[in-house]
Amino acid sequence: MVMKDSYLSIAKANSSDDVIEKKDFFSMTWKKVFEEANGSKASDIHIQQFEDSIRVRLRILGELCIIQEILETPEIRTTLINRLKSLCHFELNVNDEAQDRAFTLKLTNSRYRGVVTPGVFGENFVFRIIREEELPTIKNCLLPENIEKDLLYAINRKQGFICITGPTGSGKSTTLQATLMEISRIKKNVITIEDPVERIIPDVVQQQITPKLTWAKAIKAAMRQDPDVILIGEIRDHESASLALEAAQTGHLVLSTLHTNDVSGIVDRLIGLGVDRKLIADNLLFISAQRLTQKLCPNCRIKNPCGGFDIGNGCNDCSHSKIKGIIGRQPIVEYSLHPDSDSIMNFDKIRFKSTQLKTSLFSEAKRLSLEGVIAAEEADQWEKKQVWQTNQNPPQNLNHGHVNIQ
Ligand SMILES: [Zn+2]
Repeated sequence: MVMKDSYLSIAKANSSDDVIEKKDFFSMTWKKVFEEANGSKASDIHIQQFEDSIRVRLRILGELCIIQEILETPEIRTTLINRLKSLCHFELNVNDEAQDRAFTLKLTNSRYRGVVTPGVFGENFVFRIIREEELPTIKNCLLPENIEKDLLYAINRKQGFICITGPTGSGKSTTLQATLMEISRIKKNVITIEDPVERIIPDVVQQQITPKLTWAKAIKAAMRQDPDVILIGEIRDHESASLALEAAQTGHLVLSTLHTNDVSGIVDRLIGLGVDRKLIADNLLFISAQRLTQKLCPNCRIKNPCGGFDIGNGCNDCSHSKIKGIIGRQPIVEYSLHPDSDSIMNFDKIRFKSTQLKTSLFSEAKRLSLEGVIAAEEADQWEKKQVWQTNQNPPQNLNHGHVNIQ
């Protein structure tokens, strides 16, 4: 019995909430940080060590704001860092390699994806905040009407491959989770393979990648469970890319993400990973690339003499965001629906861009800036990139979908 009790007390002490609820300086420090992050609607918490301090910053609407600079003795800072590692269930005795874990805090009703990496002055942490009460929906992804309509069409197909690409923090995982919410998860067997499982999605079987359960093994295991829909968190290698496309070929709807800059990069990467071109050509259903940018406050934005609007100085409508003149984040999306088989069998990046895109990142940035949704300066940056790309390889007859840019 003694053993059982001590086992239970160890298990209890391991909960993240138990660690953060301890009534000492160390837990109280982190409790305040997590509560402030929750209250200010931050998307991430950054905790970095410097020579004489620990700096705590929150990412709010895309920008980092310092909320605390901890100037304690090295011994106290070490204990603070160890307390943070216990909170995340990281190995305390490992400090020379990265660790990555997802955990839940009932205190803030949120789930976190914590990553720790070694640095010159000690370990640094980043926490992505996944708010449990805010399961994403297609409507709150703020996609333009035509893109939303085509995405909804795609996710109602019985088979095919849907892929969203973009850099870290572009909102691609959120868009994919939102698409899952649109699928009838009671009538269909939906399986996700993730690393780590960020958000708990009701009525879905979620599989966590482990050192033993690799991406390829997890896809094969999912295929044995009579799935209708499989979400593969990320495709990184030949085997999982081929398995994903084969699953799409054999009557399953497969959703995934890739790390590429744009939509043509998805085709390029799949070919580069050695997937059979015919398999790609037959199964690409909806492929898109996205970025997130700051959305202007319509109440205080300032008219730009050259067209569009600039960020305003803040007003009652937007000051609660802590970033004056900004009220949220707006996705910029380019996509292709059922790209032509020929454009993949004889893939050419420039020709693909000019013939297969229904919207481009550039045309969407321009449209959103002319509508005053995003800053004119933002669209100018896209224009510069476009000019650069044009100088490299002149596109033919770019079909922008919304706006013709001269
Ligand atoms: Zn405002």
